[in-house]
Amino acid sequence: MGLLPYKNEPYLDFTDEEVRRGLDDAFKQVEGDLGKSYPLRIGESRIDTDGEIVSVNPSKPSQVIGRTASATEREADMALSTATKTFEGWSRTTAEYRARIMLRAAGIMRRRKLELIGWEVYESGKVPSEAVAHVAEAIDFLEYYSREMLRLKDGVPVYSLPGEESRYFYQPMGVGVVIAPWNFPLAILTGMSSAAMVTGNTVVLKPSESTSVIAAIYADIMAEAGLPEGVMSYLPGYGSEMGDYLVSDPRTRFVSFTGSMNTGLRINELAAKPNGQPWIKKVLAEMGGKDAMVVDDDADLDSAARDIVLSAYGYGGQKCSAASRAILHEKVYDTVLEKVVEQTNNLNQGQPTEPGIDLGPVINHDQFEKVSGYLETGKGEGELITGGDTTDPESGYFVSPTILGVNPRATVAQEEIFGPVLSVIKANSFENALEIANDTPYGLTGGVYSRNREHLEIARHEYQAGNVYFNRTITGSLVGVQPFGGFGMSGTDSKAGGPDYLPQHMLPRTVVERF
Ligand code: NAP
Repeated sequence: MGLLPYKNEPYLDFTDEEVRRGLDDAFKQVEGDLGKSYPLRIGESRIDTDGEIVSVNPSKPSQVIGRTASATEREADMALSTATKTFEGWSRTTAEYRARIMLRAAGIMRRRKLELIGWEVYESGKVPSEAVAHVAEAIDFLEYYSREMLRLKDGVPVYSLPGEESRYFYQPMGVGVVIAPWNFPLAILTGMSSAAMVTGNTVVLKPSESTSVIAAIYADIMAEAGLPEGVMSYLPGYGSEMGDYLVSDPRTRFVSFTGSMNTGLRINELAAKPNGQPWIKKVLAEMGGKDAMVVDDDADLDSAARDIVLSAYGYGGQKCSAASRAILHEKVYDTVLEKVVEQTNNLNQGQPTEPGIDLGPVINHDQFEKVSGYLETGKGEGELITGGDTTDPESGYFVSPTILGVNPRATVAQEEIFGPVLSVIKANSFENALEIANDTPYGLTGGVYSRNREHLEIARHEYQAGNVYFNRTITGSLVGVQPFGGFGMSGTDSKAGGPDYLPQHMLPRTVVERF
């Protein structure tokens, strides 16, 4: 296939009047579509269920975004049967055929970019400047994995003995259960499912209950792109009700999960138990983080403070890569903290549909309660430096950008909070800062601000995180540029958006012929 080389999808500048007008039109379009109902999609069937999931706007919980059907074990069983049957044909299609469908889906998303941004803003409470990056990431996944599949379609070279041909190539695995989180409701869902499908597998797609409507729109886009019925079932439902069933079922060949550590560990454990299936299930589990930015005593302090604030509060700290700890060398602690506090206090929090807003609410009532609980814990463990306010949750799940001064072993410095809460910690040397950074069960992203070459080289090898960034922000990994995934309890380090990702969805095969 003669494709142009891969390149990341550009963002949009919402300070440009014309772009902003387009965005406001998209908001109106989305508003006009709020409150609709979305059935399950299993093969050719569209199924309404007795139960439903009501998705609401976290900035205005009285506003219903949409209602989706809610699958039980019965519908999960149907989806697995359909995926099993469809696999026979889909797994025998060519890589080019599958890639063309993914590329067409990318084209549709590109044409509907503003509308998709609108859905992200309304359903996940993201400001447009974040939403545009996340919609672009979805497009990038489709474009990148299509090219990756074309690269891998004939396998990779191995040596052959004299008089023989050794071939090493990949074949599809089977039925993949794809379980997605709400924080990148289009991008991660698209990334995990498109990787599974472009490699020839069929998928049962279980989105997060908080963002099931965006997932329905994704399923529509895939259908419009020409994805044959049954290759991907859209199966919203409560993870607590049918998640175990999907994971344990013997028809499931692999599970691709992104979400919290506890859910990921449960899935890993359940999938490992033999349940009559003639294979060991594969689990790709990308989980939480407690990511830190280390600031050395010789760093560019203005840039460090700016990037701590950007990394801590982008999407209200609800990114697995968010800086939830700033570990500052004692010689620069006061200066950096002062700058970080000043910039944090200048952030505009409000309705993400309004221009000039830096951050909106947290995603839902549970998360609001959880973050509020951590604020209380943090105040007891250390000093509340700024923020710490919450609104009446009935009018929106807002938690103000907060900074806590704590010790490295404080609960708020160890556990993932997943909200706009930054723990600031003092270190007495660079080595001590790195030790503190590594001292959590997680290992997803990490940053170092330093001008000291020796220190950067130490961190290059000793920072125990899957994605380590020097002298820049630690969020916003780009597909094909910064393959993403974590160490330790952050997951299986499958490195989404990287060259090793697709082979994890296929079975490598060696075939040797002697002539
Ligand atoms: P979550 O609560 O673990 O949920 C993730 C998904 O798992 C949801 O679809 C959820 O369904 C489902 N689920 C819940 N219980 C299940 C079960 N027993 N079996 C199967 N599935 C089940 O996580 P979240 O709150 O949506 O997402 C935030 C978390 O994701 C954070 O920890 C964040 O760090 C992590 N994350 C990691 C990465 C990464 O690349 N490492 C990227 C993004 C986010 P329901 O919605 O119905 O509960």
